[in-house]
Amino acid sequence: MSATYTATGIVLGWSDRREADRWYSVFTREHGKLELVARGSHKPLAKLAPHLEMPAEAELLLVRGRQYDLIAGVERRSAFPGLYGNLSRLVLARNALHLIDIGVRPMEADPALYDVVAGWLGFLNGSPPLTGDRAGFLLGAFALKLLALIGYRPELSHCLSCKAPLVPGAYRWHALKGGVVCEACAQRQQEQWFAARAMTDAALKLLRFALERGFDEQLRPHLPGAALAEYHEAVESLIVAHFPTIPANSLRAACAV
Ligand SMILES: [Zn+2]
Repeated sequence: MSATYTATGIVLGWSDRREADRWYSVFTREHGKLELVARGSHKPLAKLAPHLEMPAEAELLLVRGRQYDLIAGVERRSAFPGLYGNLSRLVLARNALHLIDIGVRPMEADPALYDVVAGWLGFLNGSPPLTGDRAGFLLGAFALKLLALIGYRPELSHCLSCKAPLVPGAYRWHALKGGVVCEACAQRQQEQWFAARAMTDAALKLLRFALERGFDEQLRPHLPGAALAEYHEAVESLIVAHFPTIPANSLRAACAV
C-alpha cells in the first residue's frame, strides 16, 4: 500500500475540530466519501483552503495517516464560477452537497451518484435565475435522485403491496415503506398501512417528474402551492425515514435566501 494516492472529488463540507487543523468531507469518484484532514501546522492549509471551499471538482493528493488521511495538495479541475456571485445558486449547491454528506456512507465508491453531483453543479452553474419555489423543487429533485441511488428509490407508479398500476385518486403514501399503496390494499390490510397518508395526483405527478427527469427539465413544471407543499412533505418524509442523519432544516427552509 503506497503512502500517497490521488483522488478526484467534490468537497461536501468542512469543520475545525482542533486548533489549526481542518477536516474536510470529500465525495470522491474513486473511493466514495472520505474524511480528510488539512493540517494547519505542517501543511499550508491557508494555501489549500481557497481551493477546497468553493464548490468545485478537484484533484487531490492524499497521504495515508494512522487515523485520517491528509490532504497534501489540491488542484482544481472544474470550478463553477456561475455559483460564486449568485447566493441562491450557491445555497442550493451547498444544500445538495450537505445532503450527500449526511446521506451517503463513507468509503463506498458510487460513480453514478458522483456523476449526478457533478451534473448538478454544472446545471446550477449555468441555470437561469430561480425563484424560491423553483429552488426548493430542484433540491427536492436532487434528494429524490440521491435516495434512488442509495437504495431507496420510491415506488411512484405501482402499488407497493399488490403491484397493480395506480389508479388516479385511489392510493395513499407511506414514506417508511417507500412509496404508494392502492386504496384497496390500504383498506384490506389496515394494520399494515394505517400510517399511510392521502396524496393528490398533482403532488404524485411532481414527485415522478422530479425523480425521472434531468435537472434542466425541472425548470418547466408549473408548481401550484398546495401540490408543492405536499411534494416537500413527501420528500422530507423519505429523508427522515431513510437517511442515517436527518438534516436540521427542511429542504424548503434551506432554500429561502
Ligand atoms: Zn394494491
